[in-house]
Amino acid sequence: MSAPPRVLTVAGSDSGGGAGIQADLKTMLALGVHGMSVLTAVTAQNSLGVQGAWELPVEAVRAQYRSVVDDIGVQAVKTGMLSSAELVEAVADLIAGTDAPAVVDPVGVSKHGDPLLAASALDSVRTRLLPVATVATPNLDEVAQLTGVRVEAEDDLRRAARAVLEFGPRWVVIKGGHLSGDAVDLLTDGSEEHWLRAPRHDNRHTHGTGCTLASAIASELAKDHPVPEAVKTAKSYVTGAIASGFALGTGIGPVNHAW
Ligand code: PLP
Repeated sequence: MSAPPRVLTVAGSDSGGGAGIQADLKTMLALGVHGMSVLTAVTAQNSLGVQGAWELPVEAVRAQYRSVVDDIGVQAVKTGMLSSAELVEAVADLIAGTDAPAVVDPVGVSKHGDPLLAASALDSVRTRLLPVATVATPNLDEVAQLTGVRVEAEDDLRRAARAVLEFGPRWVVIKGGHLSGDAVDLLTDGSEEHWLRAPRHDNRHTHGTGCTLASAIASELAKDHPVPEAVKTAKSYVTGAIASGFALGTGIGPVNHAW
């Protein structure tokens, strides 16, 4: 049997299995690619939030990356929780030296409000990581943090996208899921625009949504699909995962990867 496309996630661990590396690898399995992982941080986490987080040394992150890329090779890379400026910069340099598309989910804060990126790392995300991204996938809070643009209505999404593109990613998906009405995202490279709409599912079990979307995009890019097609497939995968998300513990449960 020939090997499936290989996708690497560079992200944090969620002990509860809902987000982070665990969501990434489940998404990759569901979409038929071989998932690999470079762990950046370990979190003690459940349906109620993040109870603790420990960053890995930058040498450990570099060594994992080199082990995977130098032997196995990758057709796409995805980044999630990077925790500190030092890790953001190290990962940006590694991606710049890798011949594969990179999906950057500029993870800032969890749904429960727990910080997953130091405030001192924001500038490194703007000036080092976003410029090497093929696709960046910020949510509205991350857009506000990175650019100062506050999105209150669908009309603001275009302005938000332009502000993120100024930092240099080839494409951006602005995730408008926190607006009311349909879940609408805007994908653009500054000339083409794709508005992605999905009906809102009245389901509060949405832990891991952002990780899942970014990993799904990376999986589809690894299959050599063009960015708009990859993002559309990823959006329908995550919409199904949200629709079938389930309760776990006493807080917010995960999206469902096996739907
Ligand atoms: N934990 C880790 C390790 C993550 O990488 C992320 C998101 O990227 C989260 C938690 C937050 O997930 P959510 O905001 O869907 O709860």
